Amino acid sequence: MRFGTSKNTNVKNTDKSNRKKTWKNYVRALGQLFHDVPALLPTAFFSSVWDALFPYIEIMLSAEILNELTSQNPDKKRAILLAVLMVVLIYLGLLLMTFFNLYVDVLKYKAMKLVDRSAAVKAWQMDYEILAEPKVHEIRSMIGRWHYRHGLIAIINEIDCIIYALFSIGVSVALAVEFFQAKATGSGTLAVFLNHWSAPILFVIMFGVTTWYRIWASEKIHKRDYQAQQDAKEADNQLSGLLEACCFEYQRGKDLRLFHAQKQMSEKLRALYQELTQNYEKNIGYARIKEVIMVLLEQVFRLLVYLFVGLKAAFGAVGVGSILKYTGMVYQLGNGIHALFYGIQDIHQNGRYINDYYGYLDMENATAQGTLPVTREIQENYELEFRNVTFTYPGNTVPSLENVSCTLKKGEKLAVVGPNGSGKSTFIKLLCRLYDPQEGQILLNGVDIREYNYDEYLKLFSTVFQDFQLFAFLLGENVAADHIYIEEKAQDALENAGFGERLKTLQDGLRTELFNFFSQEGVELSGGEQQKVAVARCLYKDAPYAILDEPTAALDPIAEADLYQRMNKFVEGKGAIYISHRLSSCHFCDRILVFQEGRLVQEGTHAQLVHQEGLYERMWNAQAKYYQKK
Ligand code: ADP
Ligand code: MG
Repeated sequence: MRFGTSKNTNVKNTDKSNRKKTWKNYVRALGQLFHDVPALLPTAFFSSVWDALFPYIEIMLSAEILNELTSQNPDKKRAILLAVLMVVLIYLGLLLMTFFNLYVDVLKYKAMKLVDRSAAVKAWQMDYEILAEPKVHEIRSMIGRWHYRHGLIAIINEIDCIIYALFSIGVSVALAVEFFQAKATGSGTLAVFLNHWSAPILFVIMFGVTTWYRIWASEKIHKRDYQAQQDAKEADNQLSGLLEACCFEYQRGKDLRLFHAQKQMSEKLRALYQELTQNYEKNIGYARIKEVIMVLLEQVFRLLVYLFVGLKAAFGAVGVGSILKYTGMVYQLGNGIHALFYGIQDIHQNGRYINDYYGYLDMENATAQGTLPVTREIQENYELEFRNVTFTYPGNTVPSLENVSCTLKKGEKLAVVGPNGSGKSTFIKLLCRLYDPQEGQILLNGVDIREYNYDEYLKLFSTVFQDFQLFAFLLGENVAADHIYIEEKAQDALENAGFGERLKTLQDGLRTELFNFFSQEGVELSGGEQQKVAVARCLYKDAPYAILDEPTAALDPIAEADLYQRMNKFVEGKGAIYISHRLSSCHFCDRILVFQEGRLVQEGTHAQLVHQEGLYERMWNAQAKYYQKK
């Protein structure tokens, strides 16, 4: 195969190193498949060998039977025996082939699930910051879509092609040699030509031309196919994103209906479908022309082969029955060579997918992985400090936090307030190290948090994020974030989070299935109820530091006051941050941080801030007026 002849040495070098990387990844992929599903590779190997040899049972035995019957003294008994043998062998062979193929399919399915799993495991191991990148999402959904056609599982098909090819070619070449060695009798020009050395050469040339065209055309089609897929990638991703997020997910169905967004949605879908269909049609048209030429060439060649073999039989070189054998041989040889090139080509093409897959798995976490342990002493006695922290989200130009400095002490309850978009949630995300600041430092007991073991560091915090997620598991499992949990503790947590009364109404109690993705019996909770469960999860974790990012937004004021009271008892002696829009909730906090446009603009107790001219006082007065009116 030609791999392109670039004059540019730079390109040549990257090509070379790319190829080296591809081969390395192939070896790695084989290792992974062997490790994940040990029976897969050996079974696929035997299955392919058998696929290659099976057609020859019929080719050889039927020729033999015909030869026997057309010979001068036909031995009918032998012919019948051969026929019985052929039927039995074909029957057994088919059974074996079916068994192998089904078994390989099962093993492939298992391997595919493990590939999917590895992609999912990687997703939860990678930095949140990287996970949030659209490019990463794109690669991951591509891996999900490849399935059998590309990637690791496709290697099994490639091995199948190569093994099949080698065995078919081997047997066919042996038969071809036998065929050309058989001499025609007679002295006419035709007989001389049939025996002449140029006959096999002519045959090889013709065979070469048709096979070459077949390989050339399918490579072109393949290339085009990959390009088309690349071209359609964006539309494809948009489409699956749109379908998944906006059409299939029932929770979004509310907004879709109420805002009559169906028309807008259907227009968007139509445009995407049109783009994809056009792309597909263009591609199919290209492939169709090539395939028509391919079929024509092959039929001409096959006709010539029949003629040639028929003539040789007529001139007594081979038995009449052998016409079947040798024409079948040519057919198998063609299949073998095509499979060989197809296999090689597929290995070549699939390299990109394998590289993409390992590129994704090997994506390095950008956040430094510290090694310092977060000891019990630290957990019991900690102080966190933001020191001149500035942070800009990837892709943004304006910082979401700018030069923020403050300390968070054990035993202190902190309120964080500020208008929407002022950076409150970002402050929390940085504290939990979901992102690292570009400038400044966050310190735990005077040491940069990047130096601590990340998992141990995270154990410090119990958090209810503003956009918290519950999982479609059992209620108790959600509270404990584990399928093994202490029932009383989960129950207490739910009661303390204000979910006690609702819990009593649930027939299955902690074993209630949440949401109805997986089960008809799943229970749908209201937004406020979900928030309470999220708070219960936070309580259950019982970490040294509690963070609640607007945990009360969906609660009514009475439920909110109630929750804060319980929360306060719970976090006694610990540290806590509350983010709330209701400033009345900040009363009980030891200190209040006021954010505006990413900056920490005010800091102090309620009593101090309310008399200070500034944002807090303005917000307080605005809300107080509102409450007084009521
Ligand atoms: P708050 O919680 O105070 O309402 P946030 O901290 O969520 O505000 O957001 C602060 C700013 O950062 C906003 O301008 C918002 O648009 C931006 N922002 C928040 N999350 C992201 C994100 N994942 N990517 C890019 N920008 C973001
Ligand atoms: Mg927020």
